[in-house]
Amino acid sequence: MKVLVLGGTTEASMLLQALANDARIRPVLSLAGRTRTPALPAVPHRRGGFGGAAGLAEYLRTESIDALIDATHPFAAQMHRNAAAAAAQAKIPRLVISRPAWHPIPGDRWTELPDMPAAVAALGPTPRRVFLTVGQQELTPFRAAPWHTYLIRSVEPPDPAALPPNARCITARGPFRVDDERRLLQQQKIEIIVTKNSGGTATEAKLAAARDLALPVLLVARPPAPEPPIVPDVAAALAWLHQTALRGV
Ligand code: NAP
Repeated sequence: MKVLVLGGTTEASMLLQALANDARIRPVLSLAGRTRTPALPAVPHRRGGFGGAAGLAEYLRTESIDALIDATHPFAAQMHRNAAAAAAQAKIPRLVISRPAWHPIPGDRWTELPDMPAAVAALGPTPRRVFLTVGQQELTPFRAAPWHTYLIRSVEPPDPAALPPNARCITARGPFRVDDERRLLQQQKIEIIVTKNSGGTATEAKLAAARDLALPVLLVARPPAPEPPIVPDVAAALAWLHQTALRGV
């Protein structure tokens, strides 16, 4: 069974590792191509957009894909929609892996906001030292609040043209440890964190560190959930794939 895995996430990499020795399933990984040096598993892969839902449907047909696993990030709303539409057009089964969102626990000082401009506004008029971990594509709105000082962390260096003026950039790839995150926040005298409610374990240490230090966190909420079926993790996706393969898809 030939399976297209839409990736760019930890879940996609874990799924492909788990499938490495499964002779029944031949995976192909698709990446958007945003990261210049992605960590690539040892499976066939392709990079770049398909040209919308119609382009993806065409790819599914020409490459004789039997099933589609949409393991893109919870904030990749357009790709979720395209994957659902394309799988329906190509008449193949599709599954979304979407890790559960984070939820506050006692001690957290979170404010959830609908989008990035709302997070920028919530930083307020008083200059603050801000830790920004929102991804390198979503920095431009912060140019509207140039009076803050930003520490920006991303996997790869962001486009300088997207940066607010008082910004220092660091690059790092998770998973991160709570001790290290606490040290970073203290050393940089961070007063507030802005992040997205991505969920998962790789980047949640900053939230525990913020709790320890009683720092406020502005959390951008997820876009609406994709169409079902949705599973929360790789184990459930493997079970679905094996059922799909057993049905002779
Ligand atoms: P998006 O807004 O939902 O998608 C925009 C376009 O990028 C899609 O229409 C598609 O282009 C292309 N695309 C997205 N994922 C693709 C994939 N896996 N393979 C091929 N083309 C893909 O997505 P995004 O939020 O920009 O995210 C882009 C990629 O980064 C995704 O793969 C996602 O998993 C990963 N990522 C995103 C975030 C985040 O916070 N958004 C965080 C970590 C990783 P066409 O219409 O031309 O096919």
